[in-house]
Amino acid sequence: MRFEISRVMDTIEQRLTTDVTLAQAVVDLGEVARFMSLDGGRPINLLRLGMVVDALSRYLIDAGAMLYPVAGREVLSEAALTSKERMVLGRWADDGLIEVTPVVADRPVEIADFTGLPLIVVRDVPQYAARFPWLTDSPERILRLTPRAGGAVLTPGGEPSPPKDGKERLVVVGKATLPIVPPDPDDPATEKPMAEPVTAADETSADSALEEPAGETAAEPSAKPDQDKGGRPDGLQSFTARGAQRFGRTRVVRRRFTRSEPSGVGASLMARQWRCKEPDCPAFGEYRRIGQPVPRMRGGVPACPRHGEAVKDAGPRPAAFAVAVVVEDLARRRFVVDAARPVVVGREPSDPDDISVGAWLHEAAAAWIAKEHVRLSVEAGRLVVTDLADNGTLIWKRSSPDIKEETERIYRKSYRLDGWDSIELYTGVELVVGDHRLQTVVGSEPASVLLDAPTVAMRLVD
Ligand SMILES: [Zn+2]
Repeated sequence: MRFEISRVMDTIEQRLTTDVTLAQAVVDLGEVARFMSLDGGRPINLLRLGMVVDALSRYLIDAGAMLYPVAGREVLSEAALTSKERMVLGRWADDGLIEVTPVVADRPVEIADFTGLPLIVVRDVPQYAARFPWLTDSPERILRLTPRAGGAVLTPGGEPSPPKDGKERLVVVGKATLPIVPPDPDDPATEKPMAEPVTAADETSADSALEEPAGETAAEPSAKPDQDKGGRPDGLQSFTARGAQRFGRTRVVRRRFTRSEPSGVGASLMARQWRCKEPDCPAFGEYRRIGQPVPRMRGGVPACPRHGEAVKDAGPRPAAFAVAVVVEDLARRRFVVDAARPVVVGREPSDPDDISVGAWLHEAAAAWIAKEHVRLSVEAGRLVVTDLADNGTLIWKRSSPDIKEETERIYRKSYRLDGWDSIELYTGVELVVGDHRLQTVVGSEPASVLLDAPTVAMRLVD
C-alpha cells in the first residue's frame, strides 16, 4: 500500500504549483487536509488535497488543473500526519510546489486578490472583507468546497448548494451548466459505470433538469456529435460508478468563471521579479526553477511569505504564458512558456522537459503529428509558435471568442499569436493559451488523481 500512496502523492504533486502563471486556484492546504467531512477519516490527511485537485478539475473541466496551496508552517510538522506525508510536504515546500508561511491568515485571499485566481474555501472568510471587498461584492470568485458522493465539489458563490427536492443536486455548478441525468434511486442502472451512450430521451430529461444561472449560459447542442467518443468515462470509474455525473455528448460553450483581473497592487507586484535575502528561499530564491509567486504585502512593503523579510526588486518579470494541451475538447495538461526557455511540443520530443502529446493520440493523429511538431517561445512579450513539421501547423485566428474564425496553415515558419488564436496540431489536438478554451465536450471527465489510492478508492464506492 505504501507504494500506491507514493504514486498518488506523485500524481497530486504534478498538479501543484506556486507559479502564478500556471496556477488556476488558491487554497489553504491545512484547512482542506483537516476537512474531515470530505471522507470521514483521520483528523488530518494529505490525500484530501487530491480531492481538491479532482474537484477543481471537474469544476474547470480541465484534466490538468493546477492548484496553488498555502500551508502554515505548523502543518509541516503536524504529528497527526504520517511520516510519509510529512516527508512529501517537506519536499513540496522545498520545490516551491506549495507555499509555506508562518501564519496563513489572509494569505490565500491576498494571493487571490493579487492574481485574480479563484479562492477555494471550506468556510466563508468575512473577516477579510474589509481589506478585500470583493469577498462580498464578487462572490463568484470564491469556490466553496463541500463533500459530495464520496468526493468533493466546488460551488461558486461561497455558499454550499442546497439539496433540491430532498436529493443531492448533482449539477456541476458554474456559469455554464452541464447536462446531467438525475440518478433515479430506484434504478439499479444508476449505480453502474456508464457504458452506454446517453439517448435522446435522456438528454431531454437532462435539459429539463438544468437550472438557469443568472446572466449568461450557453449550452449548445453540437451540430455534429462525436460518434466514437460515446459517453464513456475517461478512465474514471469511481465517480461515474456513483451515478453522480452522467454526461451526454453536448458541447458546452465555456462562460464559467476562471479568473478575475489582478488587483492594482497585484498587477504591479506581478510585473516585477523579486529576490529574498535567503538564497535558498523556495519562493524568491536564486535557485527557483519555476515562475515566481507574488510577495506578501507587509505594512506596504513586499515581503517573502516564507521568511517575512522584505524582498528586493530584481527587475521586470519576463513575460510568461500558460498553455493548455487540449485533446478532444478536454484540457489534459498545462505548462508555461517564458522568454528564458522555448518549449517543444510533439508526439515524442527528445528532451523530457518538453511536452509530449503522444499519450492522447489515436493512430491517425500519431501518424500525422511529428515527434517535435512545434516550438513555442516568447519574443518581445508575445507568444510565438514555430512549425517544425512536414505536415505544417494550423493556426485558428480569433480576435475575440465570438469572432468568425479564420485559419492559416504555416510550414516551417513562425507566427505571433494574438487574442484568442489557437494552434492545431491535428484535428482535435490543440494548444490553447491560458483559459481561452471556447468549448468543451462533457462526454469524458477528467481522471482522478486519487485512482491509485486504495483507501480513498474504497471510500469512494462505500
Ligand atoms: Zn524567502
